[in-house]
Amino acid sequence: MNHLCYLTPGPSELYTTVPDHLRGALRENICSISHRSKKFKEVFAFTVVQLRQLMGIPEDYHVLFTSSATEVWERCLQNGVIHHSYHFVNGAFSKKFYEFAVQLGKKASINQMPEGQGFLLEEINIAPDCEMICVTQNETSTGVAFPVEDIYALRKQYPNALLVVDAVSSVPFLEIDYTQIDSLFFSVQKGFGLPAGLGVWIVNERMLEKAVHMQKNGLSIGTLRSLPLMVKMATDYQTPETPNVLNIYLLGKVAEDMLRRGVQTIRQETLLKAALAYQALEDSPELSPFVESLRHRSQTVIVGSLKRVTAAEYISRMREFGLEPGSGYGSFKNTQLRIANFPTHSKEQFYQLSDLIRTYSMV
Ligand SMILES: *Cc1c(COP(=O)(O)O)cnc(C)c1O
Repeated sequence: MNHLCYLTPGPSELYTTVPDHLRGALRENICSISHRSKKFKEVFAFTVVQLRQLMGIPEDYHVLFTSSATEVWERCLQNGVIHHSYHFVNGAFSKKFYEFAVQLGKKASINQMPEGQGFLLEEINIAPDCEMICVTQNETSTGVAFPVEDIYALRKQYPNALLVVDAVSSVPFLEIDYTQIDSLFFSVQKGFGLPAGLGVWIVNERMLEKAVHMQKNGLSIGTLRSLPLMVKMATDYQTPETPNVLNIYLLGKVAEDMLRRGVQTIRQETLLKAALAYQALEDSPELSPFVESLRHRSQTVIVGSLKRVTAAEYISRMREFGLEPGSGYGSFKNTQLRIANFPTHSKEQFYQLSDLIRTYSMV
């Protein structure tokens, strides 16, 4: 039998072409090149071009590399908020983003919903002095999505605040109009199916101007990776520090492969696989969908609540069939299953998974 298929929401199963590209990287000696070399600049430029095409990133938005998405939480707050940020919180990741703001000494407003629930726009009231609105588009801990239409509505209602979007577990599936937001970021070990240790931060001029304004006024915007420094270096296809060159290389290659496959094909397959998984959860004797509101159900991280056995027991049974779904997050560790639905996961795997979920009874 093959190795286990990781349906965990991050790290997840590697994208199918990663082993080949790892060999290619060794052949090209990618791990030994200088990050100031012409070769590195070519790798950087190539990866950015592929990402722009795949994700529809406009030319006037900067594409920057960090160590991870967790880092970008801090970068956004340091470079875009003098006093006041606003946070939509409905799970562990959005909560941490909020906590970073508190730790950095910002006045952080929190709009908290119980886990498993989305936000109701008519109940939102953001103060006029709020400088940044922080949205977690796909709350990976609970499988709740923030519909892009709601993000656009926020933009319309609060045009003066910077709007930043954590899309770690929904790209490249997510289709979003960048002109309606100021920043979006992700880590590569989820939807892109790469080894962990690289974040991508997409930022517009407006956010850069805010950082420059803060700097000019003597405010701290960080050291090694302040936004103006990152943008300056990126203009010459470089990073301030020695970056994760291998992962930047792999990301470009995988994005190119995904472009060849077609981003619309990937999106359609994602929707199909999600429909299979949710239907199986509805039919299962052991599980039920955690997120009730259809509008707020994530298509890329599907969460089921267990009715009578623990997650560890259920997962160990799935493992016998070569499938490794994730357990619940935090306090839901024993009572929930999280299933990643990323581009690397095939329709065949989802047919098998959904058949199992539908028919498998532990008693
Ligand atoms: C995984 C995840 C992060 C953190 O990513 P790291 O690579 O661990 O920094 C942040 N936000 C969301 C929504 C995530 O799923």
